[in-house]
Amino acid sequence: MTTTEAHVRLTAPAAPSAVPAHRPLAVPAVRLTGGFLAAWQERNAEATIPHCIAQLEASGVLDNFRRLVGESRAEHRGPVFADSDLYKVIEAVAWEIARSGTRAFDGWLDEVVALVARVQDESGYVHTWIQGVEPAKRFAELEWTHEMYVAGHLIQAAVALARSTGRVDLLDVARRFADLLVDRFGPGGVDAVCGHPEIETALVELYRQTAERAYLDLAAKMIDLRGHGLLPAGSLGDHYFQDHRPVRDATSATGHAVRQLYLNAGATDVHLENGDPSLLAAMDAQWDSVHDRKMYVTGAFGSRHRDEAFGDDYELPSDRAYAETCATVADLQWTWRMLLAGGAAGPARYAEAMEREVYNALAAAVDATGTRFFYANPLQLRPDRRTEENAPRERAIWYGCACCPPNIARVIAQLGGYVTSATDSALWLHQLTDAEIDLPEELGSGTVRVRTAYPEDGRVEIEVTGAVVGGAHLCVRIPRWSQGSELVGPDGAHRAGDDGYVCVPLVAGARYGLELSLAPRLTTAHHRVDSVRGCVVVERGPVVYCVEQVDLPAPLEVDDLVLLPFPVAPGGGDTLRLRCGSVASSPDLYATRAAARAVGDHEVTAIPFSRWGNRAPGAMRVWLPTAAR
Ligand SMILES: [Zn+2]
Repeated sequence: MTTTEAHVRLTAPAAPSAVPAHRPLAVPAVRLTGGFLAAWQERNAEATIPHCIAQLEASGVLDNFRRLVGESRAEHRGPVFADSDLYKVIEAVAWEIARSGTRAFDGWLDEVVALVARVQDESGYVHTWIQGVEPAKRFAELEWTHEMYVAGHLIQAAVALARSTGRVDLLDVARRFADLLVDRFGPGGVDAVCGHPEIETALVELYRQTAERAYLDLAAKMIDLRGHGLLPAGSLGDHYFQDHRPVRDATSATGHAVRQLYLNAGATDVHLENGDPSLLAAMDAQWDSVHDRKMYVTGAFGSRHRDEAFGDDYELPSDRAYAETCATVADLQWTWRMLLAGGAAGPARYAEAMEREVYNALAAAVDATGTRFFYANPLQLRPDRRTEENAPRERAIWYGCACCPPNIARVIAQLGGYVTSATDSALWLHQLTDAEIDLPEELGSGTVRVRTAYPEDGRVEIEVTGAVVGGAHLCVRIPRWSQGSELVGPDGAHRAGDDGYVCVPLVAGARYGLELSLAPRLTTAHHRVDSVRGCVVVERGPVVYCVEQVDLPAPLEVDDLVLLPFPVAPGGGDTLRLRCGSVASSPDLYATRAAARAVGDHEVTAIPFSRWGNRAPGAMRVWLPTAAR
C-alpha cells in the first residue's frame, strides 16, 4: 500500500503548487465571524452535514458498500454514481473540520473511511455499482458508468481530509485507485475519458498533495483527449459530454452544464500547474460564454431540462430554467480557479460572479432549516406547475439522484477560502463579509478584521493589527453597483481603480471605513433575452429579489403583476416594498390589442430570492413586467 506524506500544506481547495497570479489563503486563516455567510456555515455544520450523513444511511449509499464485504444483505440502491454522495459528504466534513476544528464527526469518519478501504479490491478499484451489480462493465462503458467521476470525488474527499486533518488513510485508498487509472489510462496506456468530467480537477489536486507527476500528466492527457469522439455519443449526442470539439477549440459552453463546468475547472487546474496558455485562452472564451450569455441573473446555469444542459446564447427562460444547484457549485469552483490563474476577465468580475451565485442561486437551493433542497432552481414558479423529477415545486429532503445536497454542504464549509487571496505585496479582499483574516506569511503575521452586516447593511470597517511587511497593500473590491463609494483611511479617501479594487497601504493599526450603496435598483436583461423582454429584476446589493404569492393581497396574482413606476422602498428587515398593479387585458390567448395596461395600485412585498419557498407553497417570480400607467 502506498503511504503518503502531505506535500502541499495549505489547507484550502485548489492549492496550486506552481505560483499562480493569486494565491489562496488557508480555510482556517479566513474565519467568517458574523452575518449571512457565517450563519449559513453554522447551519451547514449543525443541520445540513448531519442531515446528509443520515441520508447516506436512508438512501442505501452506505449499505451499497457494506453488502460488498458481507455487512449488509440489502440490494444495491441508487444510481451508478451513488458512491459520490458519500465522498462529497466526507469532503464537507473535512472542510468543516478545517473551518471550525470540530471533532464531532471523528467517529463517523473512522467508520466510513475504514469501510471504503475494506471494499477496495486488490487492484485499487472501488465502485460499488460495478463491483456489486455489473462487474463485467468495469471500464467498459465509460460514457455512462461514472467510474472516474466517482474516483474524482473520492480523491477530492481524500485530499480535503489530508489537508484539514493530516490523516492520510483515505488518501492511501484514493492513490491506489489513481495508480490503477494511471497504469491503465496514463501515457502509453488506453486512450479514454469519463462521460462525466470531474476526475481531471481531482487528479490535479492529488498531484498537488503528493507531488506525484503521473496524476497531473493523466489529467492533462484526459483534457487533451476530450473532443476527439472517444465517447460513443448515442442518443445524447457528443455535445452532452463536451466530446464534440477539443477543449482548446470549444469556446462556447454546451451540453450538460455540470459536466462542462467541472471540465473547465479541470482544464484551468491543468493550466495552473503546467502554465499552458492555450488552455487558459480557451477557458477565457468559455468563461465569457458562460457568464456573458448563459448565466441567469440569480447566478444559475443550464436552461434546459432535457440533458440538464446549457441552452443557446441568451436562451434563459425563467419558468423552465433548469439551473441545477450543482452547476452553480461547479461554477464557483471553476471561477475561483480562473481568479487564481489571472484569467482575462479580471478578479473583480470573477468575484462578482461568485457573489451573485452564493447569495442567490446557491442560497435558494437550501431551506431555512438546512435540511431541504432544490435540485432545479427556476426563476418563476407558475401556480399550476407540476412537480417533475429533480424539479419539485417545493424543496425535498433528498433526491434519487442526490448530487446537489452534499455539493452545497462541501462548498459552504470551504467558503472562507473564496473570500480573499494574496499576491506578492497585497491582500485582496474579494468578498465583503464579517471576517477575521490571518495574513499569509509573505505579508506579515498580523490580522485583518472586517466588521460588517453586509449585505443587509452597507457599512464596512476594516482594521489591521499585528505585524505587516513594509510596502504591502490591501485591495478591496468595490462592487460595480457602488462604484462611487470611497474607502476612507488615515491618509484620506480612495476610490476604486479601473480593475474594481481600491488599494491602500496595509499597515498595522490602520482603520478603514467604507459605505456601500445598497439602494434598490432595477435591472434589465440584454435585448436578446426574449423570455424576459419588458421585465425588470429588483436587486439590492448582491441580492436578487422575488415576489411570492403568499405576500400578495387578494385578488392579486403573481402572474398578473405589473411593476408600477414608483421608487422601490425598504420594507421590514431585508424585504422591499414595491408598487404593483394587475394587467388589464382580454382573456383571449391571441388577439389584436393595445399594449397591456395596469389597473390598481398595491403595495407588494418583495423578498430575497434566497428565501423563497420557506412559507406556504405557491407561485413565485423574479422578473417583473413593467408597464406605463
Ligand atoms: Zn446536482
